[in-house]
Amino acid sequence: MKIDANNLALKSWVNVPQGSDFPIQNLPFGIFKTASSTLRVGLRIGDSVLDLKELYELGYLHGLPFVLSDFDNEFLNSMMKKGKQATRDLRNRISHLLDVKNNELQANSNHIQQCISSVKEITMSMPVQIGDYTDFYSSREHATNIGTMIRDPKNALMPNWLWIPVGYHGRASSIIISGQDIHRPKGQIRPNPEADPLYEPCRLLDFELEMAFITYEGKALGDSITTTEAEDYIFGMCLFNDWSARDIQTWEYVPLGPFLSKNFASSMSAWIVTLDALEPFKVEGPVQDPKVLSYLEFEGKKSYDINLEVSIQPENQEETLVCQSNIKYMYWNLVQQLAHHTVNGCNVRCGDLMGSGTISGPTPDSYGSMMELSWRGTKPLTLKDGSERKFIQDKDTVILRGYCSNDGVRVGFGEVVTKVLPAK
Ligand code: MN
Repeated sequence: MKIDANNLALKSWVNVPQGSDFPIQNLPFGIFKTASSTLRVGLRIGDSVLDLKELYELGYLHGLPFVLSDFDNEFLNSMMKKGKQATRDLRNRISHLLDVKNNELQANSNHIQQCISSVKEITMSMPVQIGDYTDFYSSREHATNIGTMIRDPKNALMPNWLWIPVGYHGRASSIIISGQDIHRPKGQIRPNPEADPLYEPCRLLDFELEMAFITYEGKALGDSITTTEAEDYIFGMCLFNDWSARDIQTWEYVPLGPFLSKNFASSMSAWIVTLDALEPFKVEGPVQDPKVLSYLEFEGKKSYDINLEVSIQPENQEETLVCQSNIKYMYWNLVQQLAHHTVNGCNVRCGDLMGSGTISGPTPDSYGSMMELSWRGTKPLTLKDGSERKFIQDKDTVILRGYCSNDGVRVGFGEVVTKVLPAK
């Protein structure tokens, strides 16, 4: 598939700083406002944001199947409801408008003034009205590490794990965007297995390095999305920190799985990078053995080479890089996750969010949670300021970053920055 906006030779007349996550080949969507404007759909390039509401009103988006309210909107859902082809055409059109070889917008300084803002002048908002949130558990390395720690190294993976993209239904109401602080959650913990549980602030607060994908409107209840169709139902991806309270989790998870240990907050990056923009970064995934059941079979490359990083920044200190991973390690890919989610006829809707599960790589410096990095607290990490971390402390800021890179083009996701405040 050839997507015009992905052409590596493209250069924009909008300045893109060296090493930016947002060259003309990316063009992710988000929701923003300026000090004087309402929320609206924006598109990021370099350190600038293109205002699609203004662009539409000025007539630059004619001939595409959108109406003003698709862009004059506090969420992307209305625009996304127009489907894959429409948003692909939109991204291609905007790529053309931003192309240095095209004078249409470039030559009109009044229009540029109206349509383009610096990222310093804007505030980002939740990009998607998320109806349902599902979290998978698709990293074999992560599942193996957790199984090794809490059960038995010889039977680290549950018997279903190599057959099923295991997942659970999370909670959408507590998904927040980068920049919003969280409070340490309180709840039931049982630090001493011989004693009664306690009601206290969580002691073992953890991040989970994940990515998430956002869906277009799916099929009717009762119908399934095949692995072949799945990409047509995925709008794009973001970084996702699925905060976890390990001590609450350990006590509560039997027999129905995670509940309050997970639903107090999950942080997502503000810009949704389209699946189209990620197309050049597809790679083969891990070999799947045993052979998957027929509805999980797929053709072609369905994994992505996306470098992922986590840093911890204590208050008023430098940040320390604690993890470098990659979503290419993930065992179950996105199309398998969506095919599995709908195989029983479950209907996904426009704006549903599907988390990957913690993305751990094969080496100890690529583990995607403190639980694994500190091996349940037995191997504390030392930060640059000399302090140690087994889990996340109050006033720590956790930063996730992610980017793809090849042939000199870098397509990135920006960052998810979340500060942990003391329990209320
Ligand atoms: Mn998770």
